[in-house]
Amino acid sequence: MNAFRYFEAATPENAIGLLAGEPYGTFLAGGTLLIDLMKQRVELPDALIDINRLPLAEIEEQGGALHIGAMVRNSDLADHPAVRSRYPMLSQALLSGASPQLRNMATVGGNIMQRTRCPYFRDPELPCNKREPNTGCGAIAGYHRMHAILGTSDKCIAVHPSDMCVALVALDAIVHMESTAGKRSVPLLEFHLLPGDTPEEETVLQRGELITAVEIPDLPFARRSTYLKVRDRASYEFALTSAAVAIEVKDGKIRAARVALGGVGTKPWRAYEAERVLVDSAPRGSVYRQAAEAALAGARPGSQNKFKLELAKETIVRALEQVEELP
Ligand code: SF4
Repeated sequence: MNAFRYFEAATPENAIGLLAGEPYGTFLAGGTLLIDLMKQRVELPDALIDINRLPLAEIEEQGGALHIGAMVRNSDLADHPAVRSRYPMLSQALLSGASPQLRNMATVGGNIMQRTRCPYFRDPELPCNKREPNTGCGAIAGYHRMHAILGTSDKCIAVHPSDMCVALVALDAIVHMESTAGKRSVPLLEFHLLPGDTPEEETVLQRGELITAVEIPDLPFARRSTYLKVRDRASYEFALTSAAVAIEVKDGKIRAARVALGGVGTKPWRAYEAERVLVDSAPRGSVYRQAAEAALAGARPGSQNKFKLELAKETIVRALEQVEELP
């Protein structure tokens, strides 16, 4: 790990100001990923602005929406009564990720900013276009069993690691940010970028911006929702595939649907194609299968991860069946 200066910020304005004076510095929240990346010499900030004391750890209902401070810990969000009752897919997604110890430290803002677990990215000795542009991608011709099959490019196929973000894109969440230039908000769906020719650019967050909150709109039918995660072992493991789904059924037809996928996309993946198949159809297995086929129609698997294609479809179908059976 390299030497770095350490600052403790008291307010968002203080944190933004401190970072503005440290061109090679970065914010330190829960530190559950940043410290690993510093030890592995993947990230080498020369200053850490500790934002753990910022007053951004509240969860509040505001005009029907749920306003979640960026410093809310993952475990607190998962256990919050409003999340458990109004957005169960989000609570389940959070509880399916990491370990209790990590969830107690990891923050909502940090979870959104998670970086890939691609092993080539995490070893500075290996080629990786994301870590060091134009050095090549070791994974495409190498080990890529865990990698993405949707949204890939010939520069990068890294899968997005977050479970929480999959549920949040299904729920139309909005990210709020602040900097010396003012405040702005973007839908989470637009926050993460596809790798394209510039996999090193991962989000729309600009240098100097601080994520202050995430907002989830009122979505009454999300009370009947689920997050289904398939992985190599039962806990403390990233998704091979996952699905966050919600459907609203009235008079024998699906009136509204949300489908988002994890473990398969280079960003948290909203499956609009699947939602279009579901809406105005009867809730039955053959329709769920059609929706799953539509969701994966654009997939480009490699030799080691082509199993994800069928696994992701089955995950969607089972998640929809589970939601249909909810009271
Ligand atoms: Fe790097 Fe992306 Fe290739 Fe992994 S998949 S080696 S992160 S460029």
